[in-house]
Amino acid sequence: MSELAERFETHDPGEKQVAEKIRCDACPVMCYIAEGRTGACDRYGNVGGRIVRMDPLTILDHAAETGGAVVPFVAEGEAWGGELVNTGRRFVTAIGAGTTYPDYKPAPFIVSQEVEGVDLVTVVTEGIFSYCGVKVKIDTDRHIGDETATVRSEGEAIGHVTTGEYGSQMLSLGGVHHLTGGSKAEGRATCDALLNLCNRKPVELAIDGGATIIVEAGKAPVIDGKAEHRMRVGCGSATIGMFATQWRGLVDEVVVVDDHITGVVSEHQAGKVLGWQDTGIKIIGRRSTPGRYFKVSEPGLGWGGTTISDPLSILGDWNPKKGARPGLSLLMVSTTGEQFAYYELDDQLKPVEKPFPERLQKSVGLIEDNCEPALCTVLFIGGAGGSLRAGVTENPVNLTRSVQGLKTYVTVGGAPVYVWPGGGITLMVDVTRVPEGAFGYVPTPALVAPIEFTMRRDDYVRLGGYESEIRSVEDILAKGGEYLNPRRGAGAPAGNPWPPLAQLRRANGAK
Ligand code: SF4
Repeated sequence: MSELAERFETHDPGEKQVAEKIRCDACPVMCYIAEGRTGACDRYGNVGGRIVRMDPLTILDHAAETGGAVVPFVAEGEAWGGELVNTGRRFVTAIGAGTTYPDYKPAPFIVSQEVEGVDLVTVVTEGIFSYCGVKVKIDTDRHIGDETATVRSEGEAIGHVTTGEYGSQMLSLGGVHHLTGGSKAEGRATCDALLNLCNRKPVELAIDGGATIIVEAGKAPVIDGKAEHRMRVGCGSATIGMFATQWRGLVDEVVVVDDHITGVVSEHQAGKVLGWQDTGIKIIGRRSTPGRYFKVSEPGLGWGGTTISDPLSILGDWNPKKGARPGLSLLMVSTTGEQFAYYELDDQLKPVEKPFPERLQKSVGLIEDNCEPALCTVLFIGGAGGSLRAGVTENPVNLTRSVQGLKTYVTVGGAPVYVWPGGGITLMVDVTRVPEGAFGYVPTPALVAPIEFTMRRDDYVRLGGYESEIRSVEDILAKGGEYLNPRRGAGAPAGNPWPPLAQLRRANGAK
């Protein structure tokens, strides 16, 4: 049983309050926590008879951009030393901010800051996302499972294989149906996997009828025990287009084997333009356009994401009337350049493998050189629902309109997000841009993610914000908040812009 599952098991929300236990009301689970213990999610504890958020509130310094350097913790009641964070622009993230529950209460921190003459407000809370999941991009040609095949973690269904992208396989994991719509075990396994993926830990996933993959954000996927190294340079047709000139004069025919589109240089438009001679080659597959073939094989773990280990299996008889002749040379290569072989036709026009010639090494090496490293990318996707929005404004739809109208800038732990068009606030964020360990969970089950809304102060007041709750950064550094946790400074991850001045200037100009 996972650590998370054990915590689900040990928690009893129905237990009676005992004298020394106090109630955490940061989520609907309402744990009663004994002195010196933490609640079911480990994020809150009973310290000296008060509910305390156990992790520090994280404040990013964007001037230093030290890529994660951390200054010492500042304990509750101590003065802020300010070594790092006083050097430039600071951003109070929602990491460690806590959640106010029930929903009508203002968010834990509503921070004001003047930046370049613009008075800004950032509303900061750790959102509880019942509607959330991750989209996983796995850079590989290999067939990991059929589209819609179930993806499992700890034996439970937690998502499915979705439509592949260029050079990558895609998984859609989590979502409210797996979190809360199935068995308890399914919900726990889903929450556990999502939490670990979002916090950049490795997670083993098994696909029904397909591969077992270890996915870790920002790292190479491990497919059936084998680490993937390269993402293909392109489909077989694109590879022909890119490298046709490199092969000209060195070999009579080139076939780039690919599960999607297998390319043949003598027939391909790129070869034709270069004056490539016909070779009488015959590809067993469905011809799409000249020199481009679909379905030369079933998808698999072999050459170019096919099942084949012998590339000659995709060739039919060579036609002497269309150019086939003894001695004709043939290069067969995969889309990553990892597999390659060289053949010459014998007197019966049968290809015979020969030692790989030196003259073709460079072109095969060039394919490999042009392949990017294979990575797993994990995007958290969640919907900031009515309850979360109510902590920002008394009139939640105003926040949605402000976000959609680009007057409010949304971040997750200071990382920029993509907000989907259409209704609601459905956002996506690359978890590698979020400071490590920023995600949590509650046993409902749901994920907890930091979320910050930054806007002009006058816009905030206009949309019905809690004006009387606005505090300065200095006040928050000095006094902390309701959950009594220390504050810590950290260098903002490189590449995360803040404040979103371009956007705020645009909003300013648009007023
Ligand atoms: S699960 Fe966590 S947030 Fe919810 S009541 Fe328990 S300790 Fe508090």
